[in-house]
Amino acid sequence: MKVLVVGSGGREHAIAWKLLRSPQVEQVFCSPGNGGTAMLERCQNLPLSVEDFDGIGEFTRSHDIDLVVVGPEVPLALGITDYLQQQGTKVFGPTRAGAQIEASKAWAKALMQEAQIPTAKAAVFHQAAAAKDYVKSQGAPIVVKANGLAAGKGVTVAETIDQAHSAIEAIFQGQFGKAGFVVIEECLTGQEASVLALTDGLTIRPLLPAQDHKRIGEGDTGENTGGMGVYAPAPIVTPELMAEVEAKVLQSAIATLKKKGIDYRGVLYAGLMISPNGDFKVLEFNCRFGDPETQAILPLLETPLEDLLLACVEQRLAQMPPLAWKSGAAACVVVAAGGYPGTYEKGKVITGIDSAEATGANVFHAGTKLISDLVTDGGRVLGVTGTGENFEQAIALAYQAVNCIKFEKMYYRRDIGYRVKSKAVNF
Ligand code: AMP
Repeated sequence: MKVLVVGSGGREHAIAWKLLRSPQVEQVFCSPGNGGTAMLERCQNLPLSVEDFDGIGEFTRSHDIDLVVVGPEVPLALGITDYLQQQGTKVFGPTRAGAQIEASKAWAKALMQEAQIPTAKAAVFHQAAAAKDYVKSQGAPIVVKANGLAAGKGVTVAETIDQAHSAIEAIFQGQFGKAGFVVIEECLTGQEASVLALTDGLTIRPLLPAQDHKRIGEGDTGENTGGMGVYAPAPIVTPELMAEVEAKVLQSAIATLKKKGIDYRGVLYAGLMISPNGDFKVLEFNCRFGDPETQAILPLLETPLEDLLLACVEQRLAQMPPLAWKSGAAACVVVAAGGYPGTYEKGKVITGIDSAEATGANVFHAGTKLISDLVTDGGRVLGVTGTGENFEQAIALAYQAVNCIKFEKMYYRRDIGYRVKSKAVNF
């Protein structure tokens, strides 16, 4: 089997790595990939951006690609699946209509309301003045969200009315693209968790739940990022809670999408807020694998990934045996360029990857580039995953490997997994 993975992050490296562990997969292509995918055996990077549908389409036809796996949300929202399906290519990832679940917060909110999925109270505004009045009437803290895709930067959890008003102004001034409207939401408190499921539009198969660390600083302080570290399976999502999320969120969303005429095949990812009493609400849906969640989840998956992805595309997930998982836990520590999520430098030489891998950890590349040396090429540079019988072992292995790696101004949180270090694995 020949597979093309669209994207260039740690998520895509993890997907390519997992696919290549199966003897059924002869070769993987990544468009455009990164320094890590460039160094994987039987993997080749293609100089095609994720938005170059013509280039990707031409390559899949001329190289008899059996499956395209789309990593990021942007090409999905732009309709890469529709485009490639029209030429008869098998694609894992929802169509443009399905991707609205992530690409439009207002659309997702309406879907949640229709499906009776527990979520924060929200209102949509097309004018700044009305949005500001609403904020005044509700008081702070309050959450202001740009409607469209904003690479994780369109959400402000405002502590004061003034902060909320500034966020509203920024959105209407077009800082997050042309979406031009806002969703204002009740502020929820608790712990966040990610539940990702594979779906073929009829059946869902949840993956192990994961918990990310969104803030840049230790102790969950400072600015929000794309994610600084993650572990799985997240003990806060107990098997009972998982069953509830499966029924009330995932099944319910798929059934409602189907009712709307949307045949959703791919990953459905629910971002949850779990309150101290165990109630949960959905913060957001994503239409693709999580990054960095994938880097912790896939090292624990024993079922061949291509079998699952093809079963989703061919709508025969119900006939697949239950997913097989390694016992124990995984923890991924994200290594970033100093300054991220603000401005940072690129082009720093990275050393120690071989020694890091020799520990038994997986080093997934994100913002790296292979020139003659391996150099940094983004804010989040690497995701280093340790696995073990328990969280303590997984976390220790990840940090042992991180300690082997060096580049100028390297930054990582030293407290990934602080909530679970001494907890038992409950899956
Ligand atoms: P979203 O893209 O909607 O998931 O928002 C990004 C981040 O903003 C989430 O991971 C939360 O940390 C935070 N957030 C979003 N919605 C809320 C809410 N209603 N209450 C509190 N925090 C939120």
